[in-house]
Amino acid sequence: MPVAVVKYDQTLAALRRAIELCEGFSGLNPDSKVILKPNVVIGGRKSQRPDGVVTTLEVMEGLLTLLREAGCRDITIAEGGAIQPELNLNTPRAFEWSGIKELAERLGIPTIDLNEGPFTALDFYGVKIEIASALLEAGFIVNVPVLKTHQLTKISMGLKNLKGVLSNESKKNFHRHGLERFIAILGTKIPVSLTVIDGTFAIQKGPVGDDVHRMNLLVAGKDILDVDIVGAHILGIDPAEVGHVKLFADMTGQTVDLNRVEVRGENPADVQKPLAWASTWPLDLMKKYNISGIHMETPGYSNCSGCGMGIFVAVNNFFRENVGATFDGVEICAGQEPVASPAANKVFCLGKCACDTNKDHPHAIKIKGCPPSIKKIYETLKEELVP
Ligand code: SF4
Repeated sequence: MPVAVVKYDQTLAALRRAIELCEGFSGLNPDSKVILKPNVVIGGRKSQRPDGVVTTLEVMEGLLTLLREAGCRDITIAEGGAIQPELNLNTPRAFEWSGIKELAERLGIPTIDLNEGPFTALDFYGVKIEIASALLEAGFIVNVPVLKTHQLTKISMGLKNLKGVLSNESKKNFHRHGLERFIAILGTKIPVSLTVIDGTFAIQKGPVGDDVHRMNLLVAGKDILDVDIVGAHILGIDPAEVGHVKLFADMTGQTVDLNRVEVRGENPADVQKPLAWASTWPLDLMKKYNISGIHMETPGYSNCSGCGMGIFVAVNNFFRENVGATFDGVEICAGQEPVASPAANKVFCLGKCACDTNKDHPHAIKIKGCPPSIKKIYETLKEELVP
């Protein structure tokens, strides 16, 4: 099936062209239960704009309009956003911040918080994974991610956006048991009918942040792999280097070669804007606040979204209050991967994963929890490091 790349001026006409070029509604039965799965990963502050972080209202309203024009009456918007109770991160707040709540109410479209279940348990190589049953029972799934590079998985587009359909515990299990492999397996379980990447904006080093680039693009197609291949090229990332994309291609007997994809509309090379994906946020924070004597690696694959955001807030607050401070042999570990140096004087282990990895370090200071408490992280850093 073709992939459409269309310049997007926020009009319904441009979205319609993208759907027509990729034959996106072929096979659509108007009597089907249709699910729209946007990317509404978090709810931010009222003063922040959601540009680049969540799917735009223009794309969501346009898709709802086109689906209704096609005769669909049973349409639901479904998402399971990041959960972090201390930051009040949850799906209802994300729906509100993104404007989707107001849009859905205005158009009479139901919304579902996928974190609430019910779930169907499937076996992923011996690990029980819970998938929201609504997705498995849908007749036509429209996957509507945002064009993002991602600080763990290099890109977050069609396949990665499906992670929102898991229970919170299963999201953690994805991080514990091989994030890229499990995303690829998930792609084989969810019968996505159409993927529309909202490239109104692209975010660099996502999944959240303010490094946002105006792109005014749509990438749409019925084949989720082909859409991700094209989307990756547009952001200057080789899909062969993206773990979950390559694994999904292998699992489904396909390749990640752009040349085999029939692209209609714009040539990806002509609209390309290479963006970076790797983040060094701990180092960046230390430079910003002129902190020395602390080593903190960027958390790796194992760091869940809610946990990572909470850790960022706690560490940022501590550094901000101690501008210019010098410490001696301190290490901060978050996630499963970082192993503290044996020579470290104090090792702050943020959360269950870091505690488990560094449990035998003689100077480990364990801040347990899954996720760990932001308040506890901040207070422990203060008690241990500020005389
Ligand atoms: S400690 Fe944090 S990173 Fe580890 S599983 Fe729990 S929430 Fe995820």
